[in-house]
Amino acid sequence: MSGGPGQGARDKLAAPPVGSVFADALRALPKVELHVHLEGCVRPSTFVELARRYDVPMPTADLEHVYDYHDMVSFMEVFERLGSAIRNRDDVARITYESLTDAARGSNVLYREVFCNPSTHPDLAYRDLVAGFTDGANDAQSATGIVARLIPSVFRGHGPEVSSAMVREVLDGERDLVVGIGMDGDETTGPPELFTQAYALARAGGLGVTAHAGERFSAQEVRDCLDLLGCTRIDHGYGLVRDSVLLERVRSEQIHVTCAWLSTTYHYDGPAQAHPIWLLHEAGVSMSLGSDDPAMGGTDLAGDYLAVARELGLSLAQLASQSTAALDASWLAEPEKDLLRVRLNAAGCPP
Ligand SMILES: [Zn+2]
Repeated sequence: MSGGPGQGARDKLAAPPVGSVFADALRALPKVELHVHLEGCVRPSTFVELARRYDVPMPTADLEHVYDYHDMVSFMEVFERLGSAIRNRDDVARITYESLTDAARGSNVLYREVFCNPSTHPDLAYRDLVAGFTDGANDAQSATGIVARLIPSVFRGHGPEVSSAMVREVLDGERDLVVGIGMDGDETTGPPELFTQAYALARAGGLGVTAHAGERFSAQEVRDCLDLLGCTRIDHGYGLVRDSVLLERVRSEQIHVTCAWLSTTYHYDGPAQAHPIWLLHEAGVSMSLGSDDPAMGGTDLAGDYLAVARELGLSLAQLASQSTAALDASWLAEPEKDLLRVRLNAAGCPP
């Protein structure tokens, strides 16, 4: 990451007037979210409380600043502190419950697939991660109706051996709420070709496969994740706008791309007409918005919808259709998907 929030596109297209009525309508719009990280959703107050409990050194306990970072190195320092502050089943249950109920109540998220990096939690057993996620997800569903699934994610910086071992543990573990694997971390720390074995294991085991790729506008990253890893979804994918042939392939093959407004504010500072989210939308790519690391970025999914409407001019109807596209691309079992389709359609999202 190379910048901070607020550095995104500034040359507006014909954006709709954004008043409180429009903002309220966007917030109330039912949403399906496929790109969000459990670690990035931890409330600042919960982070401070858990860090105190486990004596994790914190540079500050000021809730306004516990997530301060200014580049990828300082971001990773915060991420590592978070990893050390989440240690057992109860911790995971708590952050899962809080994050899901926040999303349901604040942004009307009906369904969410959640990334989590098992290998960045040195004191947390994988079985406790899954058990805690299940506890928190079940309680959040009872409280708000939100449905959630888990995507254990390969951390690029930990290399291929750790990643393959992680996938084996996922395949051997409880899989009721585990629907796929992902990959994240700094793209410069390991090319996709390092992770072919991990992905082959996951595909052979019946898991969905996606990967963060092209966040820094590399088209080759996206191509490799499709060709070498067999991904059927791509997270970020902004490099697609630099390669028209690959863009057309992704459109025609219905590869779903999960974008994140927050990330583009770090990596893009050009005009709205050339913004990657706008260009992917204009190209007819199946896509949706995710809040990525909302607590760390001080935002939420409804806030990101509003930013995209304001800065890029996407309409309420266009954003509503993204929820339908995301549900179609999700890895929820078909009977449950149908139930959510009914809820989305009843709220005005296109079939
Ligand atoms: Zn992400």
